[in-house]
Amino acid sequence: MSFRAGDGAGKILFSALVCDPRVNCSEVILNTTDRALRLNVGFLLSAGVGFSRAFDFHEPYLRLGDDFTLEDLQGKVRFTRTHQGLYAEGELTGQTLLECVSCLSEYSQPLTIQLSDLFVYPPPPNPPDPLLVVGEDGFLDLGPLAREAMLLEIPIRAMCRPDCKGLCPVCGSNRNEEACQHPDEDIDPRLSVLRTLLEN
Ligand SMILES: [Zn+2]
Ligand SMILES: [Zn+2]
Repeated sequence: MSFRAGDGAGKILFSALVCDPRVNCSEVILNTTDRALRLNVGFLLSAGVGFSRAFDFHEPYLRLGDDFTLEDLQGKVRFTRTHQGLYAEGELTGQTLLECVSCLSEYSQPLTIQLSDLFVYPPPPNPPDPLLVVGEDGFLDLGPLAREAMLLEIPIRAMCRPDCKGLCPVCGSNRNEEACQHPDEDIDPRLSVLRTLLEN
């Protein structure tokens, strides 16, 4: 596999952070996950099929693994008891800090995920998806699933705003913040260094 500079690089970086489905790494993820999304669902498991309950989430700051944090997590997820376990349906929103590919400044990227997943109970010895099980202890951790889904929502070209003006290729100033005197032309930033040398 070759790594290409430019648009694809960020995506490759982020996908490398997501659990490889061929190995069982749920243990690793669980150990590094904030417990705020770990829910006691024992009362749902002992209820009859069809029983449901909604959980509301309001977390100002949430760590999902060593390398990913969410701010202002909000949302509601409804869990319904089925024959196979608990069916989760809802939406979670939050924001994460990213670097704009155009102006290189840090900004808050809003992220939204939809959940419609079955968490299996009792947990089988070799679950098809280790993120989608309710533990023997009656706890369900939404964290690893939320992390994976949120990472997939991160845009390939992270932009602070749709009309970001980027950096001036000549002097490097942020064009969103100040208007320098250099003409707005499409010049390869690698060549701009050469041009600056020629001008001086
Ligand atoms: Zn920008
Ligand atoms: Zn300039």
